[in-house]
Amino acid sequence: MRSAMGKNNSDLTEMNRSAVVRILQQQEVCSRADIARQTGLTQAAITKIVASMIDLGLVAEVGIITGSDNRRSIGLRLNAGRHQIIGVKFARQMFAVGVFDISGKIYTQAETKYSLEENPRTVLDAMKKQIRQMLEAYGDVVSIGLAVPGPYLREEGRIAVVTQMSAWHTINFIEEFKEEFDKPVFIEHDANAGALAEWLFGGHPQPLHTLAYFLVGDGVGTGVIERGRLLLGVQGTACEIGHTSVDVHGPRCECGNYGCLELYCSAPAIVQKARQRAPECLPKGGPAGSGDACAAVFAAARAGDPKALEVVREAAEYIGYGCVTLIGAYNPDIIIIGDVVAQGGDLLMPAIRRVVRERVAPELHDRVRIEISRLRVDPTLYGAAATATNKVLQLPSMFSAAAKGLGAR
Ligand SMILES: [Zn+2]
Repeated sequence: MRSAMGKNNSDLTEMNRSAVVRILQQQEVCSRADIARQTGLTQAAITKIVASMIDLGLVAEVGIITGSDNRRSIGLRLNAGRHQIIGVKFARQMFAVGVFDISGKIYTQAETKYSLEENPRTVLDAMKKQIRQMLEAYGDVVSIGLAVPGPYLREEGRIAVVTQMSAWHTINFIEEFKEEFDKPVFIEHDANAGALAEWLFGGHPQPLHTLAYFLVGDGVGTGVIERGRLLLGVQGTACEIGHTSVDVHGPRCECGNYGCLELYCSAPAIVQKARQRAPECLPKGGPAGSGDACAAVFAAARAGDPKALEVVREAAEYIGYGCVTLIGAYNPDIIIIGDVVAQGGDLLMPAIRRVVRERVAPELHDRVRIEISRLRVDPTLYGAAATATNKVLQLPSMFSAAAKGLGAR
C-alpha cells in the first residue's frame, strides 16, 4: 500500500508543479496560501513544491503582498524570462519559429511558407537557420520544442504518414535536431502539442480532468491530456481520430484506411468541396494555400452565400461526428477545437453542438464543454513551446544546471 502511494506521489508532484505554474502564469503574483486554496493542496505541500522551484530558479519571491484573504504574505512570481523556449511548428506548407518564456509570453515569431513540392532538405536547412538566428538573438534559451504533423512515431523520430507530403516520410527528426543544437530538443505530434498549450496556457477553469484538443487544419488529429499526462499509446500515435473511418466504404486515404474523418472536414477537404460547389467563393488567381482558401469560404458563408454556407455546415457536422467519437473514446470534460478550420468557429458551432446533442447520451453530453481555442498564438506553435516548457517543469534536474548557470549571471 505504502509503495503504491509513493509511486502516485511522484506522479502527483509533476502534476502539482504544473498546476502551480499555471496559477502563476495566470495571476502573475500570488501567495503560497492563494496557491494552496486554488489547487486544493495543503500549505505544507505547496511550501515544498515552491521551495524546489525557487531552488531551480523557476520561481522568485517578490516581497510582501496582501493576499485575497487580506493577510500580508510573501508574493511569488514565475522567474519566466530566465527560461526561454524556442517553439517550432512544422506544417505542410509553412514552418514557424517563435521565442517564448515558460509563462507562455511570446517575444518574437517568424513564419516561412514553402510549397508541397519543395525538397525536404532545403526546408530543414531554412528551419535550422531560423532557429540558430533566434538562439543568437535570445541568450537565455534552455530548450527547443518542435511540433510535427502525425501520426508521429515517437521512438523512431519519424512521421508514419504525412498526407500530401510523402517525401518527408523518411526524415528522422530526432537525428536531424539532436546534433544540430546544444540545447535539448523535444519533438511532439502537433495535436499533442496543441493539447499541452491549452493545458498550460489556455486559462481553462480548474479543476480539469481530461482535456481533448481537436486539431482541424491541413490534417485532423487529437491530443488528449488526462490529469496532466498526454495519452500516447505504445508508439506515441494514440488519439489519431483523423484516421478513423466515418464511412467504411468511403474513398481510400493515404494512411491506408477508407473514409477517414480527415477526408471530410480538414481544410483541404473544405476547399475541395468549395471548388466543386461554390468555386466563386475561392480566391482568384494562382493557387492559394488551404488556409487562405478556407478563410475565403468562411468569409463567403458569413456574407450569406448559400452554397458556401452548405459547404461549411457539412464540414461542421463531420467535426461534430469527431466530437461524438472523442466523447465516446475519452470522456473529456472539455474539447477545444483549434487550427485553420477553427477560424470558422461562429459558423461551425451550431451544427457541431446539434450533432453532439443528437448523438451523445444526455449524462455524458451534460458534462462536456465544446469550445473554439481562444489562444492568441497559433496553438501548434504555442504547443511546440509548451512541449519544451512541460519538460522543463517535469524534468527539473535536466535543466537545473542551465537554471543555476543563468542564476549566477
Ligand atoms: Zn486516413
